[in-house]
Amino acid sequence: IPATDLRFDTVSGLLPAIIQDADSGQVLMLGYMNAEAWRRTQEDERVTFFSRSKNRLWVKGESSGNYLKVVSLHVDCDADTVLIRAIPAGPTCHRGSVSCFEQPDQLQAPIAPIGFLSSLERLIVQRHDYPEQAPTSYTVSLFKKGMPKIAQKVGEEAVETVIDAVSGSRETLPGEVADLLYHLLVLLVAAGVPMAEVIAVLQERHRLPNTRHLNND
Ligand code: AMP
Ligand code: ZN
Ligand code: ZN
Repeated sequence: IPATDLRFDTVSGLLPAIIQDADSGQVLMLGYMNAEAWRRTQEDERVTFFSRSKNRLWVKGESSGNYLKVVSLHVDCDADTVLIRAIPAGPTCHRGSVSCFEQPDQLQAPIAPIGFLSSLERLIVQRHDYPEQAPTSYTVSLFKKGMPKIAQKVGEEAVETVIDAVSGSRETLPGEVADLLYHLLVLLVAAGVPMAEVIAVLQERHRLPNTRHLNND
């Protein structure tokens, strides 16, 4: 997307760029870009802002290492604001939080409930890739046991979910489904399948008109 398609502020030459986690949808931060920052962001596939306090181009992560890898770029209706979906290499806020919109005292984190599944998936991938970071973690112990054991846990939690559903155990069902979803995520990570690939299958089925995907038994 060329900078000439955008309407930078006539006085400052800047426009706001909203940065969103490409997987969870969480809003990570807002920064400003000039035409050169916009160009560099696309060329490097890494978010570059124009820092108003530093008064220079600022590659987000240049000193912290917490770069923002660009996944997709979106321009708003009147071309004066951009939205960038990105994968953060680490905490985006300089205070160490995932999002700049997180406050220590807040009751409700600014993330959609479904987006939390992506955050959890990312943590599980981290446990898988860096077990030494959390030697006492249950997730790490599951990965050490390996595949038949992980699949068996999914089976157990699925059975417990089914039992609660059939017996009308409303109170314990959410906990069992939570256990099932968590172990399912561990299974997917162990199998090397990103959840996004699973969601893509659901989206593809949703797109197909008049197609039945029923598992009739
Ligand atoms: P970084 O770009 O992550 O290497 O951070 C370099 C400097 O930019 C930090 O020391 C902060 O002064 C500032 N900074 C980093 N991240 C943010 C942010 N999300 N919002 C505002 N300022 C930031
Ligand atoms: Zn606008
Ligand atoms: Zn911040």
